[in-house]
Amino acid sequence: MEKLDLLSLSLEETQDLIDGMGEKKYRGKQIFQWVNKGIKDFEDMMNIPKALRERLQENTFITHIQMEKKLISNIDNTRKYLFLLDDGNIIEAVVMRYKHGLTACISSQVGCLMGCSFCASTKGGLIRNLRAGEMMDQILLMQKDLNERISNIVLMGSGEPLHNYQEVIKFLKIVNNENGLNIGNRHITLSTCGLIPEIKKLADLQIPINLAISLHAPNDGLRQQMMPIAKKYNIKELIEACKYYLEKNNRRITFEYALVKGVNDEENHAHQLSELLKGMLCHVNLIPVNTVVESNYEKSSNQKINLFQKVLKERGIETTIRREMGSDINAACGQLRNNYLNRD
Ligand code: SF4
Repeated sequence: MEKLDLLSLSLEETQDLIDGMGEKKYRGKQIFQWVNKGIKDFEDMMNIPKALRERLQENTFITHIQMEKKLISNIDNTRKYLFLLDDGNIIEAVVMRYKHGLTACISSQVGCLMGCSFCASTKGGLIRNLRAGEMMDQILLMQKDLNERISNIVLMGSGEPLHNYQEVIKFLKIVNNENGLNIGNRHITLSTCGLIPEIKKLADLQIPINLAISLHAPNDGLRQQMMPIAKKYNIKELIEACKYYLEKNNRRITFEYALVKGVNDEENHAHQLSELLKGMLCHVNLIPVNTVVESNYEKSSNQKINLFQKVLKERGIETTIRREMGSDINAACGQLRNNYLNRD
């Protein structure tokens, strides 16, 4: 029988497992607490009887990813990490310090299938989904490295979280549990390129996390050039799914818009975008795009970025320009991993 990863189990699943082993249910809670504290060795579970620890050792394991590389920005202390998984795969994560605390940006898959043209994470395709425990361990490792609590999470690293739906939902439950990291749903943001059935499923669960949509274009033609997913779902359907999410969760939606020189940064694009989002409880995050060597994309000029923002603001759409974090260690999402994999 395949061994179960304790760090990938919710509190209820851990309790059921322990119950099924003929042990007292409260042991399940104790084990969940140890595992979510970052304990990796069953021997360290002090309040668990030796016999049960031995049975756990035989039948289960605890995800244990390793830090392969760390880069620290001299400008703002942003830290970028490469983590090594137990099967030899590499993923990346970032932690940034904001006024309200530490925000961790984690990966949900090794690579990505979605093929967005501005993203380095997708260049080698999808290798595999991450288990919930592998998402948890990214946070546990970064907390340990910083010796400080992470208060916010964004699922915005490599991978499309909604393409790994089940494990991501499990992760959300685990990370939010008061016996574990206890990170509030309102402090978690999930970023998707727009998988509509999964957005609706997520909306129905009514877990009030923040939803961010990688939009990047104000019309179907342009979006299809930039993001293959736009050939499957059009913008109208996407906006309807967002409105459904809003209705169910009453959480403001964020639209991510990477500005690419000469592609989607013209004034008329800003007008189209404001028309699209008119009257919606939302926020637009303008992102000066990172240069990705494999694509020909370049960053828009500051003048273009400011004009774009001005048009949106004038039409009542709340807009911010994403501050560049860790610009001295900068690499577009996925590039750190790519560079590492392609090293000689
Ligand atoms: S932007 Fe996100 S969804 Fe698109 S290819 Fe990159 S990781 Fe995948």
